[in-house]
Amino acid sequence: MEEQLAENVAAVQQQIAEAAKRSGRDASDVCLVGVTKYVDVATTRALVAAGCRTLGENRPQVLWEKSSEMQDLDVRWHMIGHLQRNKVKRTVESTALIHSCDSLRLLKSIQEAGLQSGKLVDVLLEVNVSGEVAKHGFSPDEMASVIEAIEPLNSLRVTGLMCMAGLGSGQQDVRREFDLLRELLESNRGSAPPNVELRELSMGMSRDFEVAIEAGATLVRVGSSLFRGLR
Ligand SMILES: *Cc1c(COP(=O)(O)O)cnc(C)c1O
Repeated sequence: MEEQLAENVAAVQQQIAEAAKRSGRDASDVCLVGVTKYVDVATTRALVAAGCRTLGENRPQVLWEKSSEMQDLDVRWHMIGHLQRNKVKRTVESTALIHSCDSLRLLKSIQEAGLQSGKLVDVLLEVNVSGEVAKHGFSPDEMASVIEAIEPLNSLRVTGLMCMAGLGSGQQDVRREFDLLRELLESNRGSAPPNVELRELSMGMSRDFEVAIEAGATLVRVGSSLFRGLR
């Protein structure tokens, strides 16, 4: 298992480097978030040993469990899936970044949790770039007003935006959706309050992370490609 994982991590890192180079970017500007939702603690540990130190989970309870079982390791945990408000407190305590903030109510809960724990919480705003009704996230049209509403939430630091390409989107659509997220980041940067920094773009998964890097992704969330060929 260790050998296969090391091979997979190296292959993904190579693809990241090549996509960065194609678009005149530095590979070190793109962070690989290893999405471990498919695998157990032992395999997650092996992935860390293979060199992947930023990990993503989409279910809060699993993130809490894994992060507490792996406290001996030097890893950063990212919450990448839908978060309910009653799970905010523990999630804030165990994560370095919450990618999936999709409502003002949720942001206000995170603000409360940050205040209580005396922590400045780094978050991304999830944007529904495909317009698919099943997708979470703010609509592109409301970004400016959402960003304005975040100004008083002083336990939050919004470091960027996140999206998922539409399930039914073809290659062209995917590229257009990623371009839209980058344009939203750039167009809102000038007028954003101090706690909204807008520098990170979390976009791209196994099927489309290279396109995402070409469109400016700084965080790619890759799961299945890392676990290919196991078992
Ligand atoms: C599962 C998941 C990923 C990774 O998907 P793969 O196709 O396995 O790479 C990325 N982002 C989110 C939000 C996910 O839930």
